[in-house]
Amino acid sequence: MSYTKKILEQAIAKNPHEPEFHQVMTEILSTLQPFVDSRPEYEKAGILERLTEPERVIMFRIPWVDDAGKMQVNKGYRVQFNSAIGPYKGGLRFHPSVCLSIVKFLGFEQIFKNSLTGQPIGGGKGGSDFDPKGKSEREVMAFCQSFMTELFRHIGANTDVPAGDIGVGGREIGFMYGQYRRLTNNIEGVLTGKGLAYGGSFVRAEATGYGLVYLVDEMLRHNGESFEGKTVIVSGSGNVAISATEKVQQLGGNVVAMSDSNGRIYDADGIDLDAVKEIKEVNRGRISDYKNYRPNAEYTEGKNVWDIKCDIALPCATQNELSGEDAKTLIRNGCFAVGEGANMPATLEAVEVFLKSKMMFAPGKAANAGGVATSSLEMSQNFMRTSWTFEKVDRKLKGIMADIYNNIATAAKEADCEGNFIVGANIAGFKKVADAMLQQGTV
Ligand code: NDP
Repeated sequence: MSYTKKILEQAIAKNPHEPEFHQVMTEILSTLQPFVDSRPEYEKAGILERLTEPERVIMFRIPWVDDAGKMQVNKGYRVQFNSAIGPYKGGLRFHPSVCLSIVKFLGFEQIFKNSLTGQPIGGGKGGSDFDPKGKSEREVMAFCQSFMTELFRHIGANTDVPAGDIGVGGREIGFMYGQYRRLTNNIEGVLTGKGLAYGGSFVRAEATGYGLVYLVDEMLRHNGESFEGKTVIVSGSGNVAISATEKVQQLGGNVVAMSDSNGRIYDADGIDLDAVKEIKEVNRGRISDYKNYRPNAEYTEGKNVWDIKCDIALPCATQNELSGEDAKTLIRNGCFAVGEGANMPATLEAVEVFLKSKMMFAPGKAANAGGVATSSLEMSQNFMRTSWTFEKVDRKLKGIMADIYNNIATAAKEADCEGNFIVGANIAGFKKVADAMLQQGTV
């Protein structure tokens, strides 16, 4: 049996009841097989055994008091997966579905993504099963302060630098940063996604969505296409979905659909993004409220966006939101390019359908790396005690996404899998981390 297959089986057996972690390991290790098996030094040094085991897993209790005066307790996690090339870096997710399997899947994926950015950052991820939806401002603050009261002892500007993810935006980062500063008496760039008034970077809020569109645009251009005049569907209506929609519209594409976990909107005239921003960012409302702004738009409860006819699809909500059947529907309707804004939004079956169809497919590991890349730029600015302009950060982000595209396209070609950016991204991301681990000995 090949080394990769053996370690994949072992890792699955050693981590039972963690389906999302199994899924991401299967995707990554199976595509790495020919590359890793042709280099016996990796097996000799036990690289895969080490890579699939987090350096450290921290789990903790988060007690807080709700507005009714009742004690609530949530679970907290930080998985510090791999620091071979830099401090652990990766977001915090607050969502009721958060569990060890999801945090490990995201942390494992993050190792390769961060490596692909070309920045010196390792992989980590964290979060809680706390649900910010429907909570008052005071409850969210009480929770964030309690979360940081445990987490602060495990992180630091040179150790582990968390950021946002689902359910964690500027508001939550602000509350956590304030508590960190109070507990440590230390002003440092310990979190990214901070407000501009206290060490944040221009473009960080937009970076994942903008970066996604920059990378997909690069992929389209290499195939004689562009966003101009194309019909685009976007799932989700959070941070990534909103900024992706904004950039597509700037490049002349027509985004006709968005969604949330309750349903989807379809607006043939093109999504009114100001309306979506007001609903989601100001009122913290539901996407169904869009009908109040654009009565001619359609809202469908309980439905995702994948059966809407489009040229380009950008899944930007959550993992496993796009099934094999959805993938077939997209292709039947003429969709010719997919870029993953979310982490692992397409199931293994959906990815197989895309690859077989030879459509253009940009995997999340590469396509949504603009967020963490800009977080790394925020860290650089914090260390230098400076602040770059919007234009400067945006230019750097664009350059990073173009480099990522070139690296994954070249790695795919070298592996005799031209156009298969999953193989390209996995090999390009893996090689740097594995070589750093080899050079650092048995740590
Ligand atoms: P947000 O919390 O800002 O938004 C998430 C959006 O997805 C919301 O509109 C949410 O709707 C929707 N959603 C969640 N679950 C479902 C579901 N089951 N079906 C349909 N819609 C759903 O998160 P982000 O935009 O930050 O993150 C989105 C994705 O992008 C995640 O996979 C995240 O890991 C990934 N990502 C984020 C980065 C970042 O910088 N923020 C960086 C790289 C990747 P509702 O409000 O109803 O829950």
